[in-house]
Amino acid sequence: MLYRRLGKSGLKVSVLSLGSWVTFGTQVDTGLAVEAMAAAYEGGVNFFDNAEAYAGGESERIMGEAIKRLGWPRHSYVVSSKFFWGIHDGVNSKNTLNRKYLVEAVDASLERFGLDTLDVIYCHRPDPETPIEETVYALSEIIASHKAHYWGTSEWSAEEIRAAYEIAERHHLHKPVVEQPQYNMFHRDRVENEYARLYDDYSLGLTIWSPLASGLLSGKYLNGIPAGSRATLPGYSWLKDSLTDPVRNAKVAELAKIAEELSCSLSQLAIAWCAANPRVSSVITGASSVAQVTENLGSLEVLDKLDGKQLAAIDAILNA
Ligand code: NDP
Repeated sequence: MLYRRLGKSGLKVSVLSLGSWVTFGTQVDTGLAVEAMAAAYEGGVNFFDNAEAYAGGESERIMGEAIKRLGWPRHSYVVSSKFFWGIHDGVNSKNTLNRKYLVEAVDASLERFGLDTLDVIYCHRPDPETPIEETVYALSEIIASHKAHYWGTSEWSAEEIRAAYEIAERHHLHKPVVEQPQYNMFHRDRVENEYARLYDDYSLGLTIWSPLASGLLSGKYLNGIPAGSRATLPGYSWLKDSLTDPVRNAKVAELAKIAEELSCSLSQLAIAWCAANPRVSSVITGASSVAQVTENLGSLEVLDKLDGKQLAAIDAILNA
């Protein structure tokens, strides 16, 4: 496993990590979570991503219980959660980053996990209503109270991240160290262009999500929708159009030739491609089975083999 620093911070995260969106609480129960997390951990994964909103809090409960059953020492893993959408109705509990919500939500998350501290907490989306200053103060105080060690953002604009950083700098508060954006072969603009200046200006770290574009880049949708896949799950039909998009699937078929040259699977190629971007601290993978965890860990070997020639060939396919 390779470990990279989370932005400017001293915290090191495995370049491949495991997240629980869609899977934990829907496709993955506690028993399977134990097996999947054990397989990842044995492969060197030290970073596990979660969010308050995943399965209405159930995903945090399952991950916490799995960690307990696995008996891992607390120093050996990094666990994160994200806050914004909320799981309770009410004007101060949903779609907000106000101070009251954040403090209460982190406390409730810790209780579900059965932990005293979260390693990284993210503002899951920007909140156009709460002043960024209020949010930055709240996050900084949560860190000062040892309920979390680091904080970051998810899907904030470059301008919003810059504002948060500058407020923290001006008031000597804990600064955000990481952003969690979507990044994969079909979704590149924000990471490669919009954030470009933030890497040098603030050493922004990235833990990126949906490296397989929800499974599309695994090639599993080349011949329609397979039984049991994400596109078939109740509540995720909104993904169907993009997963079965003929233009994108034609590109996936072309990418399969590069995967063949490298003797790897399409999933391994797509995940390795994300990790090949040195701005990426960690690629957060998702898996509905232990076999997928194991296959995806094999991306590390592909990363060693990916050179400029193959990256250019991939660009040519994506840009065609
Ligand atoms: P991916 O794009 O990698 O999709 C993962 C899904 O693809 C799996 O659940 C599985 O779905 C399928 N898959 C995975 N590996 C394979 C394989 N080897 N072969 C075939 N199919 C495979 O990642 P996610 O969209 O799950 O995102 C990863 C993590 O990122 C999340 O768990 C979460 O922690 C984070 N995230 C953060 C967001 C944010 O807003 N900050 C938003 C979304 C995710 P199936 O088997 O069901 O088809």
